[in-house]
Amino acid sequence: MSRFSATFLPGNPMRICVYCASSEQCDRAYHAAATRLGALLAEAGCTIVYGGGATGLMGSLANGALAHGGKVIGIIPQFMIDVEWQHPGVTSLEVVGDMRERKHRLLTDSDAVVALPGGCGTLEELFEAITLKRLGLYFNPIVLVNTQDFYSPLQTFLQQVVDQRFMNAEHAGMWSLVSNPEDVLPTILATPRWREDARNYAVVR
Ligand code: AMP
Repeated sequence: MSRFSATFLPGNPMRICVYCASSEQCDRAYHAAATRLGALLAEAGCTIVYGGGATGLMGSLANGALAHGGKVIGIIPQFMIDVEWQHPGVTSLEVVGDMRERKHRLLTDSDAVVALPGGCGTLEELFEAITLKRLGLYFNPIVLVNTQDFYSPLQTFLQQVVDQRFMNAEHAGMWSLVSNPEDVLPTILATPRWREDARNYAVVR
């Protein structure tokens, strides 16, 4: 197996799971970054898997990718279809029974996770991915897009979590912060696959 978790292979597009906000009201700079990320992933031939919403950064991401011919898979629970929250134009929409199934389907078989800014939904999804990586149940890159320093306070807090010995120092390597959408793919490609022996140091020493 390659030391690196993801590679561009013809006929085998990278499947990138993107977690992001449903809010339409956040700063336009966040929408611009989401649209740009969608465009960049589409141009690189990646498949985007996301929550399937039409609003907020979810909508901006999907629209950015679709405008550049990208493949966008939305995974959305039935109750959100019932209130018409789904994006009408995605390449395919997979309807699932509940939020847990949605989270499972988003992450399973993804080659990387990217978190744009968001609220409790985005943070919950991000923390599940980090938690599974710590436990040796997910091995691929996790990249946080730090537009306007959105994730800097979280990074500081997580360093406190390490400093106060709730996690090992190695665990701070489970995720990366990048400043711009342009840095996402290079970071994914440069990030080694997480160690197979993750469980040997999952417990704090
Ligand atoms: P948040 O970051 O709190 O806005 O949550 C984003 C996540 O919440 C998405 O991935 C979805 O799980 C869910 N979500 C909340 N509102 C919506 C919406 N209007 N349409 C689709 N998904 C939503």
